This record gives sequence, structure tokens and C-alpha cells, in this order.
Amino acid sequence: MSDTVSDQKDGPDSPRGLRRELEHYRLVVEEMRRRIRALEDELEAASTMAEVPSVVVTRPELRNTLGRLVKKVAMIIQAEKVLLLLHQPEAGVLTVLPPALGITEEQADSLNIGVADGVSGAVFTDRKSIIYNDALNDPRTLKEIVSLLAVRNGICVPLVIKQRDEEERLVDERVIGVMHVLNKRFDEDFTNEDLRLAEMLAEQGAAVISNAQLYIQLTEEKEELQEAFESIHVGVIVVNRSGVVRLLNPAAAEMLDLPDGDYSGQEMGSVIPPGEARDLLQTTLEAAEERTTEITMGEEDGRVYQAQTTLMVDEDASEVESVVAIFNDITEIRRVERMKTAFVSTVSHELRTPLTSIKGFISTLLEDDEGMYDEETRREFLIIINEECDRLTRLISDLLNISKIESGRGLELQLSDVDLEVLINRVAANHQPYTKKHEIIAIASDGLEPIRADADKLTQILDNLVGNAIKYSPNGGRVEIVARDEGDSVRIDVTDQGLGIPERHRNRIFQRFHQVDDDVDHKSIGGTGIGLYLVQHLAHAHGGRVWLDRSVVGEGSTFSVRLPKHPEGALEHRGV
Ligand code: ADP
Repeated sequence: MSDTVSDQKDGPDSPRGLRRELEHYRLVVEEMRRRIRALEDELEAASTMAEVPSVVVTRPELRNTLGRLVKKVAMIIQAEKVLLLLHQPEAGVLTVLPPALGITEEQADSLNIGVADGVSGAVFTDRKSIIYNDALNDPRTLKEIVSLLAVRNGICVPLVIKQRDEEERLVDERVIGVMHVLNKRFDEDFTNEDLRLAEMLAEQGAAVISNAQLYIQLTEEKEELQEAFESIHVGVIVVNRSGVVRLLNPAAAEMLDLPDGDYSGQEMGSVIPPGEARDLLQTTLEAAEERTTEITMGEEDGRVYQAQTTLMVDEDASEVESVVAIFNDITEIRRVERMKTAFVSTVSHELRTPLTSIKGFISTLLEDDEGMYDEETRREFLIIINEECDRLTRLISDLLNISKIESGRGLELQLSDVDLEVLINRVAANHQPYTKKHEIIAIASDGLEPIRADADKLTQILDNLVGNAIKYSPNGGRVEIVARDEGDSVRIDVTDQGLGIPERHRNRIFQRFHQVDDDVDHKSIGGTGIGLYLVQHLAHAHGGRVWLDRSVVGEGSTFSVRLPKHPEGALEHRGV
């Protein structure tokens, strides 16, 4: 009885039994649906494989294409994770080529697998695929990676680039990395069929990667060249043998006074204005001869270019294909050359003048056997000789310092505590005996503290400024040297009542060799044009600066120097 009751409750025909059976069928249907979905995915993936383009030209394109590829691999083989590892020959490791599927970016970044390590190493070296279904206990797997990526099972296939000839015969084979397909879905094992599919897909992947790398490399090289070509200061024009412009870079456009733009494909005659540049290209083409010449262009400033043409010939060197013309702006070089020549003659003159005077007075004294000159006159002669010797010494010391600056050696400072009041008084006292027309006055403000400076170089700064103040006030007047405290720094002003400096020269007088040369008064006074240039360098070496504070033509000028009391970072000579 009880059996019958229980049969009724739990037997196959009982309500509970029927429910169980129903549940079972529901699960089976669900499983079948899942499989159908997977098969549909597989079908779709297989039919869209052809969408993976084999020509990829930019990095983002490569990333997108590989993204699609790894998704397809995962769908077709029914795997959870897919990653491509690329061989880095310099480092001897395999690293992840993004994007990888099913792993995080940090995990991908941390993967650096030696070419001899684990499954990846074995597949890379032997070029043979591996299938493993018990990752944890398989002796070939790297356990830290198995646990990092939670790998249960996997397939690893080599990424091989196959080069075939026109008849599809294999001519070369190269392994560039490996592809991992990990964790078969539904807790299943990977099969040999999966392996075969993975190899097929890996071949496609390898082809995409190698093509892309080649294209990307070429495009990037081309872009770099293009950028370099556009940014160089040298003008470049390429014209083909029919006189059509192939290239004209921005520097060339500027040189020819053309607006920015792309001139390639246009007739040379309609782009390049008549003149030396066009003639040069024309004659090079006509004579099929390379040339080097100097040409002047630009209406206002007449810039000088060194122009050079080169012939580009076709492969068998029988015909000229195009002419490349390069224009190098050498205006500045020529200007400096002219200035240097002028400088040598000025310096020679500046050296000869005191020497002539010294020689003259010494000869006069030597020839005076009869004692024609009294003691006082003789003394005057000696003072002049002494003065001219000082002038020579100053000039030579300026020249030595300039040569130091020009050769890139810094001006080393011998720092000590300098009492400015003593120093400016000494400078004034040294210059006064040589002039009767000027009154040289040194004024130090109260409480002027000593500063850390190179006393000799500071004297040289003031000697130059006071020397100029005297020299450029030919009618005499007051020359004031005023030093005052400004907290962390000191300021020294040198003021004269002389010629003044015309406006247009004011910011150029500190340039090397620059002299005011367009008025007779300045021109008649000798000089080398290096004094202020040197003064500026000496002030900078102290961490200070010098400037023309005020100047009125016909009334006078004030030059000012500001120096820190403690020149930090100044180029100090410490002695070795
Ligand atoms: P130079 O040896 O010619 O004096 P500097 O470099 O000392 O060279 O000065 C550059 C030019 O600046 C001088 O040639 C002169 O024309 C002008 N100059 C310098 N100091 C004064 C000044 N105190 N008054 C007028 N002109 C000056």
C-alpha cells in the first residue's frame, strides 16, 4: 500500500516525476539553443573572415583589424581568451600585441616571455603548434602565467609569414610570434580540429601584421621625411625634365616670395619668378650639368644664397629625370665675414696708432742729444708713452677675452669681496690724467656694501664704459660714475655729456663689431666695436646685465650696470 502511494507520488507518471522530466527537457533545449547560437556565430565569423583587410596602413587601423581578428578566433574556436605575442628581437622576448581578448591591459603589459620559456617559447622556437588540456599539470606551461590568466587549457600556434612566388610556391618562411587561444568554452577540451582552425587563422593574422608593419614603417618614414623637408631652412626645389615642379618646400616658397602652398604639378615658368633661381634650374636642365653658384634674391634686404643643383638620372643613367636645387641662405655668414675683415683692419689701425705715437716720442727723446727738451717736457712725453702703453694693454686684454668668448670657453671669475667705492674711485683716477677736457667724478651712495665679484673684470667693465664716455664726448664735459645699493644688487651708472647715440643704433651697440657709422662725429673716433659686446659678456658672467639707460643725441648718454651682490651660478674659477 505504501509502495503504491509512493509510486503515485514519485513514479515517472507521478506529478513530481513529470516535473523532473520536464526540467530535464528544458535544460536539453537550452543547451541545444546555446549550441545553435554558437554555430551561428561560427558561421557568421567564417563568412566574414574575408572582411579582415590584408592592407593596413596606420597603427589604429592595425589595432582595429587585430581586434576583429581575435574576436573571430574566439568565436570560431569557442575560446574565452585570445592573445597575440610578438617577437622583440632586440630584447629577446615575446610581448603582447594589443588588443588581446579576455585579458586586462595590465595583464597584457606584464607579459614578457623569454623566447625559450614555456609553451610560447617552445612554439616560437620549434614552429610547431601545441595543444594542452590540463594547463595546471602540463609540464610545458609556465605556472605563473597559468595562474595570472586563469588558464585551464589552450592552443598555441606560431605566427608564420609565408612568402610565395608568382606560382604560389613557398619561397621563405619567418616566425614573428605566437598566438594563444585559451580556455575552451563549456568546459570542453580543445580538439585537433580547433588546432587546424587556429593555424589557419594565425596565418591570416601573421600576414596582416607583417604587411601592416611594413606599411606603417614606410608611411612613418615618409611622414618624417615630409616633415623634415617642410621644416628645413634650406630651400629645395625639384623640377622634372619637362620643367614641371615636383616639389617646392616652404623655405623655397619664402625665398621666392611665394605664398605658402602646394606647387607640385605646375609649370616652372608659372611658379618661379624670372631671375637667377629660374635661370639656374633652366640652364642645369638644358646643359644636363650640375652647378654651384651664389645668387642674390629678395628685393629689400638682398639675401645671398649658395645654390647647388643636382641631376637625378633614370635607372640606366642615360637620361636626366629631374633637377634638385638646394638654396642655402648664407647672408649672415657673408655679413660676419665682411665684419671680420673690417674688424681686422680696424684692430690693426687701433694697434698701430698707439705704437706710432710711442715710437715717435721714444725716437724724439733718443735723438735729443743736445738736451733740447727740458725735464717737464720729457716727463710729458713719458706720460703720453705710458698712456699709449695702457691703451695697448687694454685693447689686447679685450681681444683676449673676446677670443675666449668666441671659442666657447666661458669667462672664469676670480671672486673676492670688492669695495665698489674704492674701485670706482680708482677707475676715475686712472682715466683723469689722460684728459684735460673732462672732469671724471666717482660717487658712491652711503652704506654701499662690498660685493662678491671679480675685481679685474669689474674694472674692465668700467674701463670700457668710462673710456667710451670720454672718447664719445670730444668736446669734453663731466663723466660721472655713480654706484648705489639696490638691496640684493648694486647699480653703477656711467653718464657723459657727449655725442649721444642715434635711436636706430641703440639696441645694436652691444652686438659684436657694431659701431655707429652714419655720422661724421662718431666715425672720426677710432674704435673696434667689441668694447660693449665684451662688457655685456662680463656682466652676464657675474649674473648681472648692462643696458643703455638714456641717450640724447648731442646731449649725452648713460650706461647702467646691475650686478647681484652674491653672483650665484656665476662661472667661478675655483682652482684645481
Ligand atoms: P668701440 O670700440 O667702437 O667704441 P664699443 O662696443 O665700445 O666699440 O661701442 C660700440 C659703439 O657704440 C661705438 O662705436 C659708438 O658708436 C657707440 N658708443 C658707445 N659708447 C658710447 C657713448 N658713451 N656715447 C656715444 N656713443 C657710444
